[in-house]
Parts: sequence; C-alpha cells; structure tokens
Amino acid sequence: MSALVVHGIGALCTCDPSLGEAPGVVRDAALVARDGVIVYAGPESELERSDIPRGALEIHARGAAVLPGFVDAHTHIVWLGDRGDEYAQRAAGVSYEEIAASGGGIRATVRATAAGSVEELATAGRERARRMLAGGTTTVEVKSGYGLDHDAEMRQLDAADRLRRWEDLPDAVVTYLALHALPDGPRDAYVDDVCSRGVADAAKRASFVDAFCDAGAYTVAECERLFTAARGHGLRPKIHAEQRSRSGGALLAAQAGAVSADHLEHATNTDLEALSSAGVVGVILPGASLVLGGPPPPGRRLLEAGCRVAVATDCNPGTCYSESMPLMISLAVALGGLTPAQALVAGTSGGAAALGLADRGVLRRGFRCDAVILKTPSWVDVAYHLGGDIVASVILDGRLAVPSKT
Ligand SMILES: [Zn+2]
Repeated sequence: MSALVVHGIGALCTCDPSLGEAPGVVRDAALVARDGVIVYAGPESELERSDIPRGALEIHARGAAVLPGFVDAHTHIVWLGDRGDEYAQRAAGVSYEEIAASGGGIRATVRATAAGSVEELATAGRERARRMLAGGTTTVEVKSGYGLDHDAEMRQLDAADRLRRWEDLPDAVVTYLALHALPDGPRDAYVDDVCSRGVADAAKRASFVDAFCDAGAYTVAECERLFTAARGHGLRPKIHAEQRSRSGGALLAAQAGAVSADHLEHATNTDLEALSSAGVVGVILPGASLVLGGPPPPGRRLLEAGCRVAVATDCNPGTCYSESMPLMISLAVALGGLTPAQALVAGTSGGAAALGLADRGVLRRGFRCDAVILKTPSWVDVAYHLGGDIVASVILDGRLAVPSKT
C-alpha cells in the first residue's frame, strides 16, 4: 500500500466542472491518495485524521496552488538526430524547400530515426519524457511516424511502449502515426502496406492510429482508408487536420468518429461545428502555430462551436521542440484566445478527453492521483508566468515523483 497526503493547499484547482466556474477551485484544501487513487480532495477543515491512511507520506504545500498533472495529448518525442543547424538556417532566411532539397527537414529525422535501435529510440524518448515530468506532465501521448518503413515504425512503437515500463516517467499512451511524410517509393504501395500489416502489427503496440491529412501529405481518401482498416484492429483514429491548408481532415474526423482532430488552424467554423456534433476533441498546438506563423490556434473558436478543447506541446524536432505544457497553456491564452482557466482545463482534463481517458485530469475522489504543486499560491501563474519555472513538486500515480527543490 502506498499513501500520500498534501496539507496546506492554498488553492486546489480540481478542474472538476461539477464545482462551478473553471477551474473548480477549493480554498484551504487537502488531497489524499491511496494506491494511486484520490480518496479525498476538498477542504482541509473537513478532513478527519482517520481519513489519512496509516503510514501515509505527509507533505505540506505551504499555501501553494495544486492542480491536476498535465496531460500532453500530442507529441512525437521518439526521434533521433539533431536539426538545430536547420533551425538556425531557417531563421537566417533559408526556405524550408531549400533545406528539404539539401536532405534536411523531416527527411533528416526519418533517416536518423529509422536507423535507430529500440534501445536508442527509447533512451532518446526517456530524456524528453523526464523533462516533461519535471514540468508537471504526468501523461504523455507518443506517436511513431518517423520510420516510413514497417520495421522502423514498429521499433518506434516498441520504444514508446518501453517508456510505459520505466518508473518516474509520465504514463505513456502510444499512437501509430501511419501516414506522416510521403514515402520515397510509390505511395499506393506504401498505403497498401500500412493498411494491411501496418495496422495489424501496430494494434499489438498502440491504442490509436493517426494520419497527416494535408496538402503535400495524405489525402482524405487515403486517411479514410487507413481509419477503416485500423478500426478492424481496434485502433481508434486521431488526425492532423487543417494545419497548412483546409484539407477536409476535420470533416473526416467527424464522420469517422475520431477521438481528436489536431492543429485545425485553417478549419472553418463549419468544420468545428461538425467536430462538436460528433464529440471529437479539438487539440490545439500553439507552439507549432507560433514557430510556423500563419493563422492562430483556434482555441476560442473551438469553444464557441461547442467543442471540447485540449492543448498539447506537439514536441517534435521540426516545428516545436518544447516539452513544456505550462508554456503551451500560456500560448493557448496569448495566441488561442482562451482564458487562463479554460487553458488550464484544456491542458489537464481536455488532454485526458483527447486520449479517451476518463480516469484522470480532474482532482476528485476515485480519479488517478496525478498532481502538480506550484511554487506560488496563484494557479493563474501557469498561464501568466510565460516560460516561468513554476512547478515545485509532481505527484505521479499517488507517489511523490518530483520532490520540491526548495
Ligand atoms: Zn503532430
């Protein structure tokens, strides 16, 4: 039995919609967990000494705010190689097309990643996942997509799966990003392969299938074919949609019953209303929006359409090398038009919804005890303190995984 109690919480941000205005704050609160599950989350004055399990680790938040651990619902953290030079070249005015023509861009990541062993891939992913945990992320979705070859994709999935078995890393949810960059050879043969042995073998390793539906990537028809094949193997669809152009991916997500549609910068209001009607979560990736320029992430527009919203890092080597969920929550406010409370909910229970996880993202009795203790009494600092070092401690599955440094 493991047990933990956090006393002296100035503001417990439950992200529980049943507690009224977001993020469902309880003042002067306590949080108690037993075997990874929350057994009490409420006013400290109503906590009986007998409610605290014997032998529980007792820690004190000293009046700081406590919130659910962040759920990062869209990442590509299993990659090898380094594209720092390319980033500098682009900043100096070299176009993406020129970089791609000289062997750079996503091709460079594919070359390095496809050549890696499971061990090498998992080790690279672990370093990024560790930084995520230190920044308060307690669940992370991990995609493949840099293999562009059956065996290389499966090695990426095996490496992502290995992250789940290491202690003191965020819980990992694995996604087979089957259609990402275009292959060197005939695309029809590649799509055939992905839709047959690809989905069959990925189903042993992953929970979701994903596709990049856009100009210069894959068509609606190809993505639809993948989703139909994947569903036969129990893989639920997610989709990269309307990022560089309006591709029709959002409408496909609505029609195919996808769990989420991600990016959506070029989505029309009709697209967003279709997602809302179908119960598809809209995932905004404001770090990538910032790096690439173009239209802003449609946070406010998604809410106005009645959609559930998640915010995620999109951590990847090309368009957003960041593990920081607090930074993305800040950018969801600054660029995406969300309020700090809406952005906090999007980074916690919204992320859980985008992964189909009903057991986390809210600090309520019966939920998984993943929580962040801030350094300050104000939960608004998550959004307000842009790039700030705001996390004091992290509780993962009811254990103190990142102790306070102060
Ligand atoms: Zn992505």
